[in-house]
Amino acid sequence: MARERDTDACPGALQVHQAADGALVRVRLPGGSISAAQLATLAGVATEFGSGTLELTARGNVQVRGITDVTAVAAAVAGAGLLPSPTHERVRNIVGSPLSGRLGGEADVRGWVSELDAAICAESSLAELGGRFWFAIDDGRGDVSGLGADVGVHALGDGVAMVVTGRDTGVRLTVDEVVPALVALAVRFVEIRGKAWRVSELADPAELLPDADMSAAPFPPVTKGPVGWIDQQDGRVALGAAVPLGVLPARVAEFLAAIEAPLVVTPWRSVLVCDLSEEVADTALRVLAPLGLVFDENSPWLNVSACTGSPGCAHSAADVRADAALSLQAPDADAAAHRHFVGCERACGSPPAGQVLVATGQGYRLLRDQPLR
Ligand code: SF4
Repeated sequence: MARERDTDACPGALQVHQAADGALVRVRLPGGSISAAQLATLAGVATEFGSGTLELTARGNVQVRGITDVTAVAAAVAGAGLLPSPTHERVRNIVGSPLSGRLGGEADVRGWVSELDAAICAESSLAELGGRFWFAIDDGRGDVSGLGADVGVHALGDGVAMVVTGRDTGVRLTVDEVVPALVALAVRFVEIRGKAWRVSELADPAELLPDADMSAAPFPPVTKGPVGWIDQQDGRVALGAAVPLGVLPARVAEFLAAIEAPLVVTPWRSVLVCDLSEEVADTALRVLAPLGLVFDENSPWLNVSACTGSPGCAHSAADVRADAALSLQAPDADAAAHRHFVGCERACGSPPAGQVLVATGQGYRLLRDQPLR
């Protein structure tokens, strides 16, 4: 459902959104990367000035609801190094393959993510990009190219593919061309966008990249992130922790931060705790699992997600998170299909595949059923 509006209402750390339950702050994490100290800061912010929880978004960002002191939160976020550009804070939407450089993939794309972030912030015209436009940098394993980002790249064994709306355009890049090419595409979008905020909303998306072949099938969507014990290629261990419905209690976030390891928030509302010794990973697993984090890749929690719904969102016809949790107890729950519960037809946070169920006030009806390919 395209949303036409002249101004960008997408929230950030400085431009907050007034939700039904108070001010909402969204903090961008390019590539999902966040340090333990930064996560501890956000947990503290949520406890002192917010609802006591952190929400993980489908773009690997973090948001805090029910903010009572917007100025204090912005200062804390900036002090933690999470607000490098006040003018560009909402347009730093970059997802990257979360395990890149640690396991698998054709390239380590972590440097591409940070270089792209810096290049976006350095390009003044991209302050007009809008908070819904996003970039995907796939290290070749095919995990984030199918998420439906506006523009991106996909590492190949012998080069890099330019990707637009999840499709390989046939355009090939060298590694050195990746960041300039993505910035040029975003600048071009700003020039031609009219009232569009997403490439898919352009009257003719081919206008963005005239050399592109837009006829390719999209990359297949992936609806689950890496979960459980993951042996990194350097001998260390990453733990993949799914967060039920993306709602991370601040107290649990404090435990994650206390491990003092690099963290990655994934677009599947999970957290990777990286670069652990086996001993630390084993201890962390024993502490974190009883706190509600999910380390079982067969858990039904990985098949269900929800938008904010009531009471946080005034548009919602139901408490969709509660209903999503209840759905796991239903005997007819289809364990194979991903189900996303939403409170209205805006269908916020919908994954690229699976069922989207919209609240009607009397129950739910199927809004979309996109099978996994
Ligand atoms: S889908 Fe509707 S109810 Fe759910 S968060 Fe978005 S606007 Fe609110």
